[in-house]
Amino acid sequence: MVATTIETSNNHRQLIIPNAYQTAIAQYHRATEHLAIDDNIIEFLRYPRREFTVNFPVRRDNGKVDMFTGYRVHHSTVLGPSKGGIRYSTDVTLDEVRALAMWMSWKCALVNIPYGGAKGGVIVNPKELSQAELERLTRRYASELIPLISPHSDIPAPDMGTNEQVMAWIMDTYSMTAGYSVPAIVTGKPIIIGGSQGRTEATGRGVIIAMMESLKQRGQGNRTDISVVIQGFGNVGSNAAVYAHELGFRVIAVSDVNGGVYNPDGLDIPEVRDYCQENGGVMHYPGGEPVSNADLLTLPCDILIPAAMEGQITASNASDIQADIIVEAANGPTTPDADDILNDRGIMIVPDILANAGGVIVSYFEWVQDLQAFSWDKDEVFRQLQRIMVRAYDETSNMAEKHHVDMRMAAQMTAILRVAEAMKTRGFYP
Ligand code: NAD
Repeated sequence: MVATTIETSNNHRQLIIPNAYQTAIAQYHRATEHLAIDDNIIEFLRYPRREFTVNFPVRRDNGKVDMFTGYRVHHSTVLGPSKGGIRYSTDVTLDEVRALAMWMSWKCALVNIPYGGAKGGVIVNPKELSQAELERLTRRYASELIPLISPHSDIPAPDMGTNEQVMAWIMDTYSMTAGYSVPAIVTGKPIIIGGSQGRTEATGRGVIIAMMESLKQRGQGNRTDISVVIQGFGNVGSNAAVYAHELGFRVIAVSDVNGGVYNPDGLDIPEVRDYCQENGGVMHYPGGEPVSNADLLTLPCDILIPAAMEGQITASNASDIQADIIVEAANGPTTPDADDILNDRGIMIVPDILANAGGVIVSYFEWVQDLQAFSWDKDEVFRQLQRIMVRAYDETSNMAEKHHVDMRMAAQMTAILRVAEAMKTRGFYP
């Protein structure tokens, strides 16, 4: 579904932008049109399996009790236990959680790890809570989720507004109820309580692995002068920048929410990272010129990596993008209208469910290590990450070639086909 305009009663034109769930459903139906899948299975996979809404109290530091609303949606459990992050944001809605849960099903299926898709969220601005209030909110939400989550049914992880400390509180709350430690209940935990080596770097590193595969696919695998622009310098953007720099790519611009820094000769990324840590941002790093986030997206470069948030590349800037390849590190950074413009211009898009899957892949390794009570070293984690990312990339590009579709459509088709085949094999219960 694309954005449309309607006439209102007073003759004004109003832009109607589809919500995330409408977009997810529309993408799903577009992908299934290319696939020979049983209609019953198409109908079945369109719906979330379970949706849970909870209203719960949290005592504030001043003694007052406030009510909060949280969700957890299991889209699919066909390939295995459902997996997906928990988001703390004032923008959380049930429809957003439904969409994110469906996209998790496709992401896990695409990289062929034995998980279904889930997502959770609480309507809250975590920055407005004290650390003690955040802990009470998390523990109460986690205890409300106990009937739904377990290491064998649904395994949460961090997402926007949550972090490894929040995962530690969820793990502890679940463990206190069980009566023993259950590290495999969440991923993205601190290493000291069962987190995995390499989880922090995983998504950014996976983005660069996908980028290198896309260069090979475009016949540019041997070029040594590739320039890279990265929007967002948080967990994903900074780790992608560091790995690209280590591999010898020229990272010419990076940004955070306040703006960016640009040097066409290449930035010294370890220095930019230190500067960012000391000064709380990258914009005034002295080794380059300041650049706005809007201008950064249209800089001349070979590769553009949006690694900040959704909806950054739209119909209004897609015609000005100068990159040859866009590697979607963020979830949903390109709107469907912009997709059409970029495809017409021959700009390749490596879609989010493929490009940023490194995070869930290493989350899967964390869960495997916790279940076996055996930890891997970082080299092993990165070797296995590389293997799975390259395999998923190859499968997606083969699907794209076979059906003459773009990489986004091919990624969705590969994933949906895999879940549909598993469902056909399992059959409808009873
Ligand atoms: P983060 O909060 O660590 O970093 C976000 C970065 O984007 C920060 O540098 C912030 O300043 C910047 N930013 C925020 N708003 C911006 C704006 N309007 N313009 C430009 N920059 C802006 O988040 P993250 O974990 O790095 O996640 C980034 C994206 O990657 C999100 O879309 C997230 O859903 C996706 N993602 C993350 C992971 C993961 O493992 N962390 C996995 C898969 C997908």
